[in-house]
Amino acid sequence: MIVMKFGGTSVQDAAAMDRTLTIAEARLPRAPVLVASAMAKVTDQLQQIARLVGEGKQEECDAAIAALEERHAACAREFLAPPHRDRCLADLAVILEQLRALTRALAMLKEWSKRSNDAILSFGERLSTTLLFHRARCRGMDAELFDARELVKTDDTFTSALPIEDLTAAAIVARVKPRPGSLAITQGFIASTVSGATTTLGRGGSDFSATIFGAALKAEEVEIWTDVNGIMTADPRIVPAARPISAISYREAAELAYFGAKVIHPSTMQPAVNLGIPVRVKNTFEPDHPGTEIVPTAAGTGVRAIASKRRITLVSVSSSRMLLAYGFLRRIFEIFEKHQTPVDLIATSEVSVSVTIDNPSAIDRIARDLSEIGTVGIEAEKSIVCLVGQDLWKDTVFLSRVFKSLHEIPVRMISLGASDINLSLVVPEPATEESVRSLHAEFFP
Ligand code: ADP
Ligand code: ASP
Ligand code: MG
Repeated sequence: MIVMKFGGTSVQDAAAMDRTLTIAEARLPRAPVLVASAMAKVTDQLQQIARLVGEGKQEECDAAIAALEERHAACAREFLAPPHRDRCLADLAVILEQLRALTRALAMLKEWSKRSNDAILSFGERLSTTLLFHRARCRGMDAELFDARELVKTDDTFTSALPIEDLTAAAIVARVKPRPGSLAITQGFIASTVSGATTTLGRGGSDFSATIFGAALKAEEVEIWTDVNGIMTADPRIVPAARPISAISYREAAELAYFGAKVIHPSTMQPAVNLGIPVRVKNTFEPDHPGTEIVPTAAGTGVRAIASKRRITLVSVSSSRMLLAYGFLRRIFEIFEKHQTPVDLIATSEVSVSVTIDNPSAIDRIARDLSEIGTVGIEAEKSIVCLVGQDLWKDTVFLSRVFKSLHEIPVRMISLGASDINLSLVVPEPATEESVRSLHAEFFP
């Protein structure tokens, strides 16, 4: 069997949904499971609704829901004939009534928790898959719609829940029975706790859903359908000359995703690794392009791609008491752990430690605790620029080429060698694009 995941632009309107279903139709002999995102921008609009709810702005909230209703109903009217149209409109109305009831109750309480945020965001995928399901039926396909919340079971880390592997695999295997000729449709991104509270896997998490289904069903392949010709040598919005990469390893892809390549969610590769399931990134708008294959190991050395991550904060602690002492690093990391703040890059000298974090929400408390150890410096508005590829450090001219191409950009921190596939540089945020472009010009002339 095969899992196909379609992102927001691949289901953004009636024409896109039809393109998506044509791709799925061609794969019917391979017993496909289709995992879909919300229509483009809908999750952002639901996020706005969640914010309005927290401010108790009921009327604005109702207006935003009416706009969502209109967009989905217009799509249903455009591509569905009776009786499919009426059934679909009725299903959409039921889902939207649930959203109205939920937001009214929450607005009364001015409630905006991570739990309520997930419940509200889940509606986007529920709406888009309802449209896809009815359109598939209308086109004469044998289609079945599954509620992913009954299949993907997670812990209760709302807004970035972690799947519970065995429960999830058992639920998927018990319910979804892929077979040639029929199309199973379900939602990406959404899940639920063991007690049934709705969770999400984090923004962009539909890619992760796809490999969760792929691993549970032992898929021969997982396809991630998006709006570009695969994983490219850089974000094409920053570097128009970026080119698609034909093959990349799981680790390289994960590293790129973690350091900002939005094309794929950083957790996507994890379920695929154990079974060695190939993941292919393809373009819905150019389905014949081979895209990128993500595989256990990919041939070739040198820089494979460049990614960047903005809004990074650099935190430094220095203390002469660190000289020749032990236990300092432990004390420093305990503070980040206490404030549940992950650290990305680290550099140390005899008397100081610098780290980068991308979630500064606890920065004041972290700085207060760190100041008991030494002098604390906080520098916001940084970016990480990351070069990914095999054996970078073995190339003796690699670093000189990097610094030559960044000649006027003050590189604040560097990390090479912690992993054998990545060089990360911390640069001022306003220099992000220039850094990526210069490095791309150097390594992909
Ligand atoms: P989807 O809705 O299909 O999940 P996303 O918007 O999440 O799509 O991801 C696709 C986008 O990721 C592309 O349109 C592109 O702008 C961006 N992107 C960032 N870095 C890269 C990269 N290295 N290769 C390809 N696309 C990238
Ligand atoms: N719809 C969700 C989002 O926009 C999940 C996804 O598209 O992957 O974040
Ligand atoms: Mg995405």
